[in-house]
Amino acid sequence: MDARRNSAVDVMVIGGGPSGMFAASRAGEQGKRVVLLEKNPSLGKKLLITGGGRCNVTNHTLDTRALLGRYGAAREFLFSAFAQFAVTDTIAYFEENGVPLKEENERRMFPVSDSARSIYDVLVKSLANTGVEVRTNARVTSIVRDGSVFTVSCADGSVVSGKSLIIATGGTSRPETGSTGDAHVWLRALGHTIVENDFALVPVTLSDAWAKTLGGVTLTDVKMTLRADGVKVVSKIGKLLFTHFGVSGPTILNMSKKVGELLEHCDVTIELDLFPTLDHGALRDRLRDLLAVESNKMLKNTLRELMPTALVAPLLTLAQIDGDTKNHSVRSEDRKALVQLLKAVALHPSGLLGADKAIVSSGGVPLTEVDPRTMESRLVPGLYLVGDALDIDRPSGGYSLQLCWTTGHVAGTHA
Ligand SMILES: Cc1cc2nc3c(=O)[nH]c(=O)nc-3n(C[C@H](O)[C@H](O)[C@H](O)COP(=O)(O)OP(=O)(O)OC[C@H]3O[C@@H](n4cnc5c(N)ncnc54)[C@H](O)[C@@H]3O)c2cc1C
Repeated sequence: MDARRNSAVDVMVIGGGPSGMFAASRAGEQGKRVVLLEKNPSLGKKLLITGGGRCNVTNHTLDTRALLGRYGAAREFLFSAFAQFAVTDTIAYFEENGVPLKEENERRMFPVSDSARSIYDVLVKSLANTGVEVRTNARVTSIVRDGSVFTVSCADGSVVSGKSLIIATGGTSRPETGSTGDAHVWLRALGHTIVENDFALVPVTLSDAWAKTLGGVTLTDVKMTLRADGVKVVSKIGKLLFTHFGVSGPTILNMSKKVGELLEHCDVTIELDLFPTLDHGALRDRLRDLLAVESNKMLKNTLRELMPTALVAPLLTLAQIDGDTKNHSVRSEDRKALVQLLKAVALHPSGLLGADKAIVSSGGVPLTEVDPRTMESRLVPGLYLVGDALDIDRPSGGYSLQLCWTTGHVAGTHA
């Protein structure tokens, strides 16, 4: 009999992303016979593009209570899992495997190598060391449960069976990486509910034509205030990236879900304060002094000292000021209008980019259907759920991958 076509193991893991790889090697470490099934020709396609190819592995918030505050409604659910595998364990795991991590802004941790490949290499090596059988080009097409045994069939005709099955097929964001929501059909058939995907961290599109001409321009330390019908919803200082369709960057991504909800019934603006450390008076003084020192220069040239060049012309147009005016001739009401604008540039969101550009999708199996101590389904004994397959909202900053390490470890331990 062809062993690949029909085999029995202890633990089957479907999905070779970070959560599946971590769960499989943990189960292998416990002495289990494990098979990992991945439909792509290679493992970790999405992992390799995380953090712009540098992989934001975790977030350096060592106080678990504080860290879990970032997972919203999933906070309580995750306590037990994080008691088994926390951020310190993640750091120790990668460091012990020869990949030291470093901390960057907002406590994001990256490998010192600045390469997602080094994280991938650790995971692949660990699969080999723990004896996990990895099958790539193995697209699972069906799951059948008979008594306590699951039988998993792949598109190439191979069949595997076993008593424990870990679903690590991800969500539905960036489908070209393999995360296409295949598991939703099987899970529904097994009796689970699926919360439909709602793209949680996505760039925001704008209706402002002028802003779309700024593709590639980045503003650091800008204050972004989200307003609904003029009322402030949230305000954050961070990095903003203009793109050819609107705006992106970590702060915008974190606001995106709220923007999407508000757009359904409100007028939404994102107001930019380009000089959050100066109040109106201080900015007016700074501008007045600068124009006085360079009194014979044109206003547009002086403004380049205050902001990226690409921003100068659109802002002058918005403020209806002629940039060719010599500084000594700039009227005081124009200076005032300019300060007003620099402290509150209004951007008008028109929508969100879809799954093709999403970082993570919320949605998946609701936590009420999962045992928080083991990640085992409460409805189907022997079935475990990890990573993006679970319905957990979280911000950008390494929180998604930490969820993969923690839930993968827990499921791999108990499966
Ligand atoms: C551009 C981008 C950047 C990101 N950057 C970061 C970051 O820096 N830090 C961070 O914490 N998070 C980041 N994320 C989020 C993070 O990548 C995900 O949360 C994480 O990959 C989820 O891992 P997973 O193992 O649950 O699922 P996935 O990584 O989606 O893996 C699921 C796997 O299952 C396989 N699969 C699906 N269906 C089948 C089937 N039928 N048969 C067999 N195999 C199947 C898929 O091919 C895939 O390989 C980023 C996401 C994107 C898109």
